[in-house]
Amino acid sequence: MTPTRILRIKHIVVKTALSRSGLPDIDYALNPYIGCIHGCIYCYARLYTRDKEATSNWGSVVVVKQNIASVLERETRRYKPGVVGVGTITDAYQPIEAKYKLTRRCIEILLSRRFKVSIQTKNPLVLRDLDILSSHRENVDVGFTITTLREDVRRMIEPYAPPSKARISAIEKLSSSGIKTWIFYGPIIPGLNDDEETVKDLITLAYKTNSLFYYDPIHVKDFMKTPDHPLWRYIVNKPRDWRSRVIKSIEVLCSEYGVKCRPGFTGDSTI
Ligand code: SF4
Repeated sequence: MTPTRILRIKHIVVKTALSRSGLPDIDYALNPYIGCIHGCIYCYARLYTRDKEATSNWGSVVVVKQNIASVLERETRRYKPGVVGVGTITDAYQPIEAKYKLTRRCIEILLSRRFKVSIQTKNPLVLRDLDILSSHRENVDVGFTITTLREDVRRMIEPYAPPSKARISAIEKLSSSGIKTWIFYGPIIPGLNDDEETVKDLITLAYKTNSLFYYDPIHVKDFMKTPDHPLWRYIVNKPRDWRSRVIKSIEVLCSEYGVKCRPGFTGDSTI
């Protein structure tokens, strides 16, 4: 069971919907919400989020961009079609989407205007939109982040996100529906979710679902660099070669399984 809690929901009117993206293979970013109810303790998105209340209460404040669909309608008439990353600094399918349906409306607009849609989520709610995704499957890919298959670890690091089992079922459903899928294994945290069994199980899942496999050893950010942060004890004092060892073992196993793999981010502040 995913725990629930009291949230603060704010509504804003926006002037822009799409923003230029610096992510590889993505031309534009679309984030219908600011902040994320999933509240992952490692979430880097808080560093790129402008709403101070959401940033300092990560996971408890969500801002709804209530007019985003109408702004997107206008922008997609003017902008050159390209690949749109949906949910680059929020989860566009976090539970609040079940009520507001902003992501659903936005992907409908994008796909009808020949934009491509690349969704990253942790929430099987994306299956609600399988009707739209299936009818544009050549222009769609969906990635699920899975960091661990152990529920105790998942509850610790992603306390309000759906269990990994539910994510796995969703990937299987998407894949069997002909949607291009990918798995994002990250952040990989030394001594917490970098064990051989986890790596093997996730690569096996990628093999079975014909998913591209992204791996991403943790990027240590300032907000983690305190003994109060639950991840600190895992990220401090780790062997210098941990990162290269973990990457090598993933790449070797992917090669054995014939699974295509890629680094998740090529960002900074690694250990
Ligand atoms: S689901 Fe993604 S955006 Fe939401 S809190 Fe977790 S890492 Fe951050």
